[in-house]
Amino acid sequence: MLPIITCLPFEPLNGRSQQHYDRLVIVDFHTHIFPPEMQQRDEYLRRDATFAALYGNPKAKLATAEDLLASMDAAGVDITVVTGFAWGDGDLCVRSNDYLLESAANSGGRLIPFVNVIPQPGEAALKEIERCIASGARGLGELRPADQGYALADGAAAELLADVARRYGLVLMFHVSEPVGHRYPGKIGLPLEEFYRFLVAHPDVPVIGAHWGGGLPFYTLMPEVAALTNVYFDTAGSPFLYLPKIYSHAVELAGAERIVFGSDYPLISQQRQRREIEESGLDDQAKALILGENAMQLLKLNVGTGL
Ligand SMILES: [Zn+2]
Repeated sequence: MLPIITCLPFEPLNGRSQQHYDRLVIVDFHTHIFPPEMQQRDEYLRRDATFAALYGNPKAKLATAEDLLASMDAAGVDITVVTGFAWGDGDLCVRSNDYLLESAANSGGRLIPFVNVIPQPGEAALKEIERCIASGARGLGELRPADQGYALADGAAAELLADVARRYGLVLMFHVSEPVGHRYPGKIGLPLEEFYRFLVAHPDVPVIGAHWGGGLPFYTLMPEVAALTNVYFDTAGSPFLYLPKIYSHAVELAGAERIVFGSDYPLISQQRQRREIEESGLDDQAKALILGENAMQLLKLNVGTGL
């Protein structure tokens, strides 16, 4: 059990309800949900090669917002960052964004939407981002440049993403690929080297490197990598990628204040991922940072009225 570390008034940003927690607030920073019509996946398997690679197997689960809320209740997760899918078609991104925003608006502050766009120069991407922000989006993700038809090394796309993040206080979340190790559907989303170049070019932008940032924590032994203090690492998919001792190694190398609990639900259950962190052998302070406190700070959910 974790000690009571956080005692704070929690006010969801959309202001629809106010909840008070007198204990650690548990936040899952990485989940995926799909609108009901996309659960009938055949049409979308034809329309998007990455979706087909990840969800072509009928056993690959697709969850709705209702499924996720039930999972949160079962796993004791208070707040969840919801993402859709990194569609290669801008119209599908918009439909997915609509569903995320609507689900979050109806969740009483429990779901925090991260939306997706294809960051091509021109008005369309910017307008969509601004529309989503007006309806409660707090970040962009999970972005998969290699699958969405742009290179992060391409100045225009990277500039647009960094610019909106700065202007609107957004967090960017990228799927980062391990350069080594076993292959799996959807592994390639963003090469680690491109991710690193983005971080170097935009060190002031808060960025989540999903799936332990493709292994970037290990490179924090290099001083120039350690100097990038606005990059955070989520634990999404960890049981499928790394031995459990990654928690102690990553905390030692990158610091517990740079790691956030992410499950990749429904790929991995929130309960399972939370349990793996609880049983990681980390001290209570590190666990509290990872399970909620870092996320609250990143999402500016701790309104800090002095309790
Ligand atoms: Zn991912």
